[in-house]
Amino acid sequence: MLFSRLLTPLPSLCAVCRGWGDGAVCASCHARYAGAAARCVRCAVQIPGGVTVCGQCLVHPPDFDAARTGLDYAHPWSTLIARFKFHAALELAGALVQPLLASVQRDPGTLPDLLLPVPLSRERLRARGYNQAWEATRRLARGLALRCDAHLLLRVKDSPHQLELPPEERAANVRGVFAVEPLRRTELHGLHIAVVDDVLTTGATCAELARVLKQAGARRVSAWSLARTPRDTP
Ligand SMILES: [Zn+2]
Ligand SMILES: [Zn+2]
Repeated sequence: MLFSRLLTPLPSLCAVCRGWGDGAVCASCHARYAGAAARCVRCAVQIPGGVTVCGQCLVHPPDFDAARTGLDYAHPWSTLIARFKFHAALELAGALVQPLLASVQRDPGTLPDLLLPVPLSRERLRARGYNQAWEATRRLARGLALRCDAHLLLRVKDSPHQLELPPEERAANVRGVFAVEPLRRTELHGLHIAVVDDVLTTGATCAELARVLKQAGARRVSAWSLARTPRDTP
């Protein structure tokens, strides 16, 4: 009796509404702010139901093959993601991953063979103590029974944070920044890789990673993000 009570999750305060719930974000806030939405299969921006690709991707398809996200990068998620990313609020990881996980479980499509986090440079990892993209990746991999790896992708030089730059400068900012671990290049041959990041905005980071991964033999690259910036607020 006592043992089974110990296994029941303890109630906790919801990070959004401050009400009591059983998780970092309560079920009613998930229902209110993280409802399922129709999204472009190439860039994950919200689109009307019945459409699969947005107009921008019809004209200029991104360098990655597909994109998925769980959330719009907007209230209340933008604040929670900033806490998760910059203030070590790792207790939010499960709640932030859940909408993407649910989206993939609802509509698995072609599942990737391997999940890889967008890597941090060694200096930034040392300063922050954790890579938020890896924290998301390993939870997704566990939830979907997929393989993941924290060491196959390297960030070989640091670059200014993408958010500090205007959208038109972001592609140049990440060029030459990433590499595949040279000793393990053959492991990627023929695989469908999903690159996992916290937020997808212009897609420049994932496009550069897609280029690097395909050079190493990957067959298909998907861009997975916890949240996606809506297009009218770059
Ligand atoms: Zn709540
Ligand atoms: Zn699109």
